[in-house]
Amino acid sequence: MPLMRTPPASRHAVPALLALALGVGAAAVQAAPPEPTPNCPDDAGWSDPSPPRKVFGNTWYVGTCGISALLITGDDGHVLIDGATPEAGPMIVESIRSLGFDPKDVRVLLNTHEHIDHAGGLAAIQQATGAPLRARRPGLIALRKGDMDMRDPQVPFRMPGFPPVPVIETLADNAEVRVGDLVIQTHATPGHSLGGTSFTWTSCEGTTCHAMAFADSLSAVAPDTYRFSDPANSPAFATMLRGTFDTVAALPCDILVSPHPVASRLWYRLGDAPSEPLVDATACKRYAEAGARRLDARLDTERQATP
Ligand SMILES: [Zn+2]
Repeated sequence: MPLMRTPPASRHAVPALLALALGVGAAAVQAAPPEPTPNCPDDAGWSDPSPPRKVFGNTWYVGTCGISALLITGDDGHVLIDGATPEAGPMIVESIRSLGFDPKDVRVLLNTHEHIDHAGGLAAIQQATGAPLRARRPGLIALRKGDMDMRDPQVPFRMPGFPPVPVIETLADNAEVRVGDLVIQTHATPGHSLGGTSFTWTSCEGTTCHAMAFADSLSAVAPDTYRFSDPANSPAFATMLRGTFDTVAALPCDILVSPHPVASRLWYRLGDAPSEPLVDATACKRYAEAGARRLDARLDTERQATP
């Protein structure tokens, strides 16, 4: 039997009841414009709460203001991509609930990459949903221990650890994740981290369908003392990133969401009065080009610092 969605509480429920009590016509109440869903500032913190909202069709934003998490819903169960921070995990569960979906109907958890700001909340979400995390092999060390893989260039930043994810199933590099009639294609996109993964699927509203892309972070991040250009630093994250730029540029991609919403200008593209188009088939290509420019700049700086 298809899963039922409980309609979320209407923002007009209280005024409507009040109107009934006062004997005012319902039409007058319904004429009030809906409250706009507030958008988030670009400099929002990782755990700053955001109201959940629809992205398109069966794709819903359930992350925080600073970190994306997407719920993709289907008749036979749902898929959740990313868990944001440890603090945000319970907020994501609550966002799923407040959209009218049952967290227990989430069948699979996925993860863009194994850093605290995207994987930190997964253990709490797994506890609430009972869903296994499916992740590519290179990310497993970090996800199982709740801390960065020692080969990660960001290790010297000494980021705090996060609750390890108890149940993880290994995902092939380029796999299809299926839940009922939902089909999510995974793409290996390492470079920002070892386990970096991007995801594509199709969402429809009526007869309009769009290629959705949740493309992983593409930044080469490390302390100034780390050299992406040093062949002694293995594996070669810069080389991995170059391949990933090509992969991301070629993704089916009408609507792009990035793990940090600011990187795909999401808060300008969603909401009641967007100032930029939500749908842009060049978005992944431009996202990859921006990543390549930043890597070039980083390698230039390293070259100039060479004595
Ligand atoms: Zn990261």
